Amino acid sequence: MIIFQNRFMDREEAKVDMEDRGYQFGDGVYEVFRIYDGALFDFDNHLDRLVSSAQKIRIELPLSLNEIKKMLMGLVKENSLVNGTLYVQVTRGVANRTHHFPEHPKALLTAYTKQSERPFETTNKGIQTILMDDIRWLRCDIKSINLLPNVLAKQTAKEQGCKEAIFHRDGIVTEGSSSNVFIINGNDLQTHPANNLILNGITRRNIIGLASGLGLNVKEKPYGVEDLLASDEVFVTSTTLEVSPVIGIDSTVIADGQPGPVTRKLQERFEGRVLG
Ligand code: PMP
Repeated sequence: MIIFQNRFMDREEAKVDMEDRGYQFGDGVYEVFRIYDGALFDFDNHLDRLVSSAQKIRIELPLSLNEIKKMLMGLVKENSLVNGTLYVQVTRGVANRTHHFPEHPKALLTAYTKQSERPFETTNKGIQTILMDDIRWLRCDIKSINLLPNVLAKQTAKEQGCKEAIFHRDGIVTEGSSSNVFIINGNDLQTHPANNLILNGITRRNIIGLASGLGLNVKEKPYGVEDLLASDEVFVTSTTLEVSPVIGIDSTVIADGQPGPVTRKLQERFEGRVLG
């Protein structure tokens, strides 16, 4: 079962109109939720971010927040999803192709679930990454379905045998192509502030909370590529990568090529929260 054009149906029934503005302009926003043991992790914060992304691009949600919430929980239950992800997207709907908004837009919500294993391989062993120029627009705080720079960066990383591309804007590390980036030096945990240049990750927010609880000194402050490469430990966070240690960036080896002790401690705490 899926949700398509604001109602439940079988996937085979769903047909995308060629003039859906999401399809033609990337005019829409999305959210990815994680399901652990049948429960939606940090559901309300993900929903709030979906609402806020829609507001920022002036899309009016087609259903009330309560209805959306009920439908999404219903979908997860209906599909008997125990471990996996829920993808939700809202586009500005179908209209004659003109760049400006239609007179009477009718937003369309799509949602489907996917069963998937947790990323134990990457969280246990760590990942190799590459650095890339952040060529994206200046509203990366919006979870827009326009992901072309992210797609190209991830493909480049893949072609080099890496799991993630870390973006920098004029030498300042912003975030990964689909994750947030943290550095650890001594007792300091640092990450780019949640402004227009990054997506304020839900995992990022959880980690910041957990780090403060561990007595780490959390700094949401920009840092440079040189700081990144010289850090004691580096890790990335996302709904799908969870807390993945970075053990290499291009030809630089991080933390002797092993996940570091502070990262491990944060992973442990995160585990407590997801299995909570
Ligand atoms: N930044 C970008 C660009 C992303 O695509 C993602 C993944 N959605 C994140 C950060 C991490 O966000 P979250 O922890 O909410 O998955």
